[in-house]
Amino acid sequence: MKILILNSGSSSIKYQLIDMPSEEVLCKGLVERIGSEEALFQYKTAKVTVEETLQIKTHKQGLQLIAELLVDSKKGIVGQANEIQVIGHRVVHGGTTFSAPTMVTPFVKDKIKDLFALAPLHNPHNWEGLDLAEEIFPQAKQVAVFDTAFHQTLPLKAKKYAIPNHLFDEHKIQVYGFHGISHQYVSRTTINHLNKPKSKIICIHLGNGCSITAVVDGVSVDHSLGFTPANGLIMGSRSGDIDHSIIFYLVETLGYDLKEVNRMLLKDSGMKGLTGFNDLRDVQAAAEKGDIASDLALEMNAYRIKKYIGAYATAMNGLDAIVFTAGVGENSSELRKRVCTGMDFLGILMDDGANEKREAGILELHTSDSPVKILVVPTNEELEIAKQSFKLVSLIT
Ligand code: AMP
Repeated sequence: MKILILNSGSSSIKYQLIDMPSEEVLCKGLVERIGSEEALFQYKTAKVTVEETLQIKTHKQGLQLIAELLVDSKKGIVGQANEIQVIGHRVVHGGTTFSAPTMVTPFVKDKIKDLFALAPLHNPHNWEGLDLAEEIFPQAKQVAVFDTAFHQTLPLKAKKYAIPNHLFDEHKIQVYGFHGISHQYVSRTTINHLNKPKSKIICIHLGNGCSITAVVDGVSVDHSLGFTPANGLIMGSRSGDIDHSIIFYLVETLGYDLKEVNRMLLKDSGMKGLTGFNDLRDVQAAAEKGDIASDLALEMNAYRIKKYIGAYATAMNGLDAIVFTAGVGENSSELRKRVCTGMDFLGILMDDGANEKREAGILELHTSDSPVKILVVPTNEELEIAKQSFKLVSLIT
């Protein structure tokens, strides 16, 4: 069964065509920096590699490019679009409606639309991906796999906010958690790698969006993103934790418009707000050239992660491993080093040489005598979505 996985994010689309159950990746690629003059388009099969920098203004344009190449007579990987039987979509917010992978129907699409307000940077792009895929691959079954599902296991003490109970009971205001597909894949891979089903793991997903999850015996027990993907760590353009009183001060005392404040906290804050750069590569380059604001932003970013590691080690009453994943986590030895420096009291001892190695696959970054393992586990949300989609479609057909 050929399953096309679409992971349509805030500024990127990652895609893979995976044959299941063999898990063979037939084609993979990404469209990065959507909206810019210099978007990166990648498409790779066993025989063909396309890598271009071009203007891609919208997600729709990016998805159309992918679809055209897949069936292209020279570069394509399938003869006809109808060979793609299933499209598995990453959908960020499933609210309380979706706690498992779901076949896409008009009702499901409406429900995902209802959740736009809760994930304004993601659900609209996920929905657009669904809509466009239905148009281009009308014969394929569409499956939505939700980022919130893995965190359904949070205990109430971690899930609830200390606000009046009726807001939880009647309006479902709670921690939903995100990046669940990634955390599920990475924590399971870590458990298998360590051969330790009974384990206390902190999974640190550092991409454009960032989050951290405490995982006990494979189950999510606490997590840094909250009601929406805005809380917790410092992200590319999102502030993460702030004192909510700042919002009222901005509006009531400084005269900001509420919508402008919301936009500012989601799109102009985080690393971008601190340095002008959304992309950590740019922040690191500036810091290396001596830019003090960029160096401080990296230190703030690492400091926030360290605080969460301390909190989650306490929440779990122990720690077997910390795991870095996603674009920044897998590639930035600089940020990993800043996070792991001065954490020896917790048993986190980094091998600086191992941290600088640039190798594919799972990396071990701890010293031989480190009580806590430090790993890099490349995330594979696409494979996780393929597995979940295949299981669902196989069950119902
Ligand atoms: P993701 O959301 O997982 O695709 O990650 C995207 C982020 O990864 C971008 O903000 C990039 O800054 C970051 N990234 C990718 N490659 C590197 C690298 N070599 N060093 C630092 N950050 C990187």
